[in-house]
Amino acid sequence: TARSRELFERAKLTIPGGAGSTARLPRNGWNPYPLFIEQGQGSRITDVDGNEYVDYLLGLGPDILGHRHPVVTEAVVKAIQEQGTSFGLPYELEIEASEKVVAAVPGVEQVRFANSGSEAVGQAVRIARATTGRRIIVRFEGLYHGWQDSVYWSNHVDLDKAGSAERPRPVAMGPGVPAELEETLVVLTWNDAESFVKLMEERGEEIAAVITEPAVLNTGCILPEPGYLELLRSETTKYGAMLIFDEVITGFRIARGGAHEYYGVIPDLTTYAKGVGGGFPVAAIGGTKEAMRLIADGTYSHSGTYNANVVQCAAVSATMDLLAEPGLYERQRALGDRLARGLESIANDNGIDAYVTGLGTVFQLWFADGPIKNWRDAVAHTREGVFKRWYEEMLVRGVLFHPLQFENLFVSLVHDDRDIDDTLEAAAGAMKV
Ligand code: PMP
Repeated sequence: TARSRELFERAKLTIPGGAGSTARLPRNGWNPYPLFIEQGQGSRITDVDGNEYVDYLLGLGPDILGHRHPVVTEAVVKAIQEQGTSFGLPYELEIEASEKVVAAVPGVEQVRFANSGSEAVGQAVRIARATTGRRIIVRFEGLYHGWQDSVYWSNHVDLDKAGSAERPRPVAMGPGVPAELEETLVVLTWNDAESFVKLMEERGEEIAAVITEPAVLNTGCILPEPGYLELLRSETTKYGAMLIFDEVITGFRIARGGAHEYYGVIPDLTTYAKGVGGGFPVAAIGGTKEAMRLIADGTYSHSGTYNANVVQCAAVSATMDLLAEPGLYERQRALGDRLARGLESIANDNGIDAYVTGLGTVFQLWFADGPIKNWRDAVAHTREGVFKRWYEEMLVRGVLFHPLQFENLFVSLVHDDRDIDDTLEAAAGAMKV
């Protein structure tokens, strides 16, 4: 790690903190020197000290086609060379990209491109408020919807401050977020039908939108209980509130049509980012025509200098074509499941309590002493020390994933059997230590 250390010291002089937040996690003296990356290719990434890793972090998710997919890269370069970078004016490639997204996702009839997941969420929340004329947004503990203010909340919230499970207080809005915004948020415990129904009975008519990840990928990988997403759908419809699926992670990952296809539940609005551009920085807001009405008639201006620029639309268009390969998701889900189950059995064979929750192309191996169906369970049951050792032992054996147990492992659409075999072999060594 000599060169990484050197670069970190240099970075701190001109970059506050020296590196992005994830690279600096976990704190408290553990892993103090972030890895500096030389390059990534497909499912593998190399650091500046020449170490190669099978990569399950995938740029925090967006590299669903692995690093530097040649087809997407070539499409982007070609579009820039032939057309330019951004116009602030309409052009045909934007229509092509939107048509392909609409074709891929069952419940998305129209789509607008944006620059980041946070931005897309902020816009979706505004559209919901403008459409309903209401101001309250309901969100859930343990989920993350980006850095923008309106629904900001640390996913890894301090439960001492948050209070009761039935109705956690909107704490942890974070430094710099106006405290008044707390009044516009109601926070609930996820996967708890009772508290949701009760809230809707009490305040359903004040609620502009309910926002959720369809599976909680910002606390490991917690799946919805049977019927839970359907309940969110039926209750929001009943009270005239909008349902927003934040598919920044699940979109184009758990299935080509994301949760719409995988769970068969159709929200009013859906936000996308990681994945939609195969690693390029692009986000999107999709919705039914009815939900997009205010944008269509010009009441709500969805503006942004870089929205739908050439890089984004070329990346989206090429990515959508690649994702349409028949059998791709079935194959990669099976591959991801083989990895997940393999890790689980290696752990259990070595006397370590661990279990997997997942959706094939994204999962978490929990080191936990009880079942986890929401953030409160995760705090109560996970064994952080075991996870840290696991992370370190895998890293030295050439396998990289998010250094927090409350995140997850991403399997790209280009990982292959050799990656899985290498990872399982590394795990067999790591679990023995
Ligand atoms: N929503 C979800 C579900 C996310 O996981 C994230 C990012 N981790 C965001 C929104 C924010 O996206 P971005 O980082 O692109 O702003």
